Amino acid sequence: MKQTDKGIREIRIDPIVPSNSVLVATARSMRPRKQEDPAPRDTRKHVETCPFCKGNEDKTPPTIASYPDEENWSIRIVENLYPVLGENSTQENLNFGLQQTIEGYGRHEVIIDHASHGIAIHEMSSEHLASIFTSYQDRMQHLYNSDPRLKYVLAFKNFGPAAGASIAHTHSQIIAMPVVPENLFNEVQNSKQYYHKHHRCIFCSLIDEALTYEATIYDRDSGEVRRKIDVGQYVIEKNEHFIAIKPFASRYEWEVHILPLVHQADYLQTSPEYMQSFADLLKNTMARLDQVIGGAQFNYFLHSIPHGEEFEDCTASYHWHLEICPRTSIPNGFELGSGLFVNTVSPEDAAKKLRSVDLSDIL
Ligand SMILES: [Zn+2]
Ligand SMILES: [Zn+2]
Ligand SMILES: [Zn+2]
Repeated sequence: MKQTDKGIREIRIDPIVPSNSVLVATARSMRPRKQEDPAPRDTRKHVETCPFCKGNEDKTPPTIASYPDEENWSIRIVENLYPVLGENSTQENLNFGLQQTIEGYGRHEVIIDHASHGIAIHEMSSEHLASIFTSYQDRMQHLYNSDPRLKYVLAFKNFGPAAGASIAHTHSQIIAMPVVPENLFNEVQNSKQYYHKHHRCIFCSLIDEALTYEATIYDRDSGEVRRKIDVGQYVIEKNEHFIAIKPFASRYEWEVHILPLVHQADYLQTSPEYMQSFADLLKNTMARLDQVIGGAQFNYFLHSIPHGEEFEDCTASYHWHLEICPRTSIPNGFELGSGLFVNTVSPEDAAKKLRSVDLSDIL
């Protein structure tokens, strides 16, 4: 890290997917992105015209599942009114020269996360959060079982207009698709290669490194300190079974990943005890983010081992996790065109800020 008065300016290579590099540039002059205005959060509990609020159940497509039951639901799952991928299976796959298409077959479901319209994740009880993530598990399992053509079931959440949420009522989504999304595929392939070389899961190695690494790198000529790596400098919080980490090469300023401490490839194998521990850590992490960046607009998505024969040999090398990506600015043309994202807050500083939030004041 070239740390001068002008801040850091260095390209960091993602350890898991090396093609995902990021330019960490913290000098004040580096403000290449338009800052996203924090959206005023809709904190109302009930909105008469909202299709996801109680009493308006007839305004959504039919219920797929409700928890704990249809009458007194606190989580409700419905078909998406505007599915990205559809159920009808009449279209053939088309191949013409270099133009190849795979039929847009899949399933798209909406999880209404909570009966209270504008509640934020960190305001929900951790028991409720565990129920939400258990409902993802149920639906993912169901969808994988329902059709072998479904290669990946992605659970994700958009919160706030900058994160692409079109309905203000808190909700998340599940899309079951006929292909494995590229970023997940790259993680699975690269971690498998790492495993073949080092006989270790790269995610487990990253966790160990975050928890134990300590080093000082000196300049060969001058003997000056070039970089100090402190114990746990990327750790935001850890509990009995999970850890929240600020990735060293994060594309987004406030990106945080949550991983199980013991090796586990498939999210669907998470036990109820682990799910509760995960929910506790998620609640705290979201409270920290809310405190530091205020009214966080974010996406989160679950990365778990894809099902199907071709991935059966990846259970030792892949490690499921939740990626939380708060949207504080909009990627610009340079970033989209080059694939080189610019992060203007050093991950070390971001982790430090998040770590230092005193949760006893807010939770
Ligand atoms: Zn609502
Ligand atoms: Zn692992
Ligand atoms: Zn991932």
